[in-house]
Formats: sequence, C-alpha cells, structure tokens
Amino acid sequence: MARWGMVIDLDRCTGCAACMAACHQENNIATAGPEEARDASRVFQWMRMLKEVSGEGADVRVRFMPQPCFNCDNPPCVRVCPVHATYLSPDGIVGQVYGRCIGCRYCMVACPYGAKVFNWLDPEWPGDLKRRANPDVSLRPRGVVEKCTFCHHRIIRAREAARLSGRELEDGDVTTACAESCPAKAIVFGDLAEAGSRVSRLARGPRAFRLHDDLGTEPKVIYLAEKK
Ligand code: SF4
Repeated sequence: MARWGMVIDLDRCTGCAACMAACHQENNIATAGPEEARDASRVFQWMRMLKEVSGEGADVRVRFMPQPCFNCDNPPCVRVCPVHATYLSPDGIVGQVYGRCIGCRYCMVACPYGAKVFNWLDPEWPGDLKRRANPDVSLRPRGVVEKCTFCHHRIIRAREAARLSGRELEDGDVTTACAESCPAKAIVFGDLAEAGSRVSRLARGPRAFRLHDDLGTEPKVIYLAEKK
C-alpha cells in the first residue's frame, strides 16, 4: 500500500505562487468577489504561501514556505469530527466528504497548521468558469469545510491507467498540480512507503524536517531546509 507524501525544498522556492494558482484551477476553488477579497478571512486557498521578512534596507531577506494540508498520519482533525466527514484513508490521504460535513468547524480548530478552510458564502463563478470546472473534483456548496487532498483524483486516474496497462504504479506516474506547475521544481510528490522513490530519498536527507514535529501529528509534507 502506498503512503503518499510531499517534499518541499525551501532552498528552491521563490514564492512565485504558481503552485497556488495551479491548485486553485485544478481543485475548482471558488473565486472571491471584491467584497470578500477585502476581508482576508473570506479568501481561501488550499495551498497557502507563508512569508517571512527579515533584515532591513539592502540586507532585507524574504523567505517563503508553501503550505498545503500535511495529510498527517495522526491527524487531530479526523479525531474531532462528530459525523466522520473527514477520515484517514489507507494510502495516507486525509479525505473530506463534503456531503456529510455539517460545517461545525471542529476540525479547523483542531488542526495546528490552519490547513482547512470554510465556505462562508455561496461560491462565485464569474463568466463561464463553472463550465470549465475540473470534472474530477466536486464543487462545494456554502457551509462546508474543505482542504487539499494531494490531488487524490489524479492518484485514482494514474492507478487506473497503470492497471489498464497491466502494471503497477511507478515512481513519477502521479504528481500533484502544485508540483507540476512549480517552475523551480521545489515540490516533489510520491510514495513515501517506497524506499527508492525520489520523495522518499529526499525525505531521509540531512536537510529534511517536519513542521511542529513535536506535536505528534506526523505530517506527510516534509520540508528541506535552506542550504547554509
Ligand atoms: Fe488535518 Fe491539519 Fe493535518 Fe491536514 S494538516 S491532516 S487538516 S491536522
């Protein structure tokens, strides 16, 4: 059984936000109108870009950290859901059943990374955007919590294509929209259970670390620290 995970190299990330745009398009994330955009809490993304500015003048330094849901192996968000709308699947993806979600937002409070977002208003689809939605990803109504699922629909599609070709999934057969769009190749996706996969080798490297590892959530997004 695969155990899907992601490595993000902070030394390569330039903060261009191509990953955020690709995620938005791939996962049918509704656009915010001008009124919502004025209130930052109403604009939501499944992939966020954290920014740290240090120094002054000519010495100013800006660092970026892309942050999707970490699809944790020990996810507190799953434990608190009263209706089992969020669950940990055997291949390590933390799924969200939108039709079951009652919008209580307990999972958002439990997540220490702020990875889940809530649909406060009816999603807006200017022009014919709705007709161009990705048919593999369901549209979400107002009043439910949503999150990154490591582009689970792509995993299903690749698994099916491999089965039809009479072979097993191979390293590189599946990638997420964010990893595919990254011009700096800072994001690598793959099977952490496969010792020889690229993501697995990078995750065992000397620069690898997990955010707030001490919390015991066992995130499956591993960052590579910047080179000295
Ligand atoms: Fe749940 Fe947050 Fe972990 Fe994602 S990052 S699985 S929302 S606890």
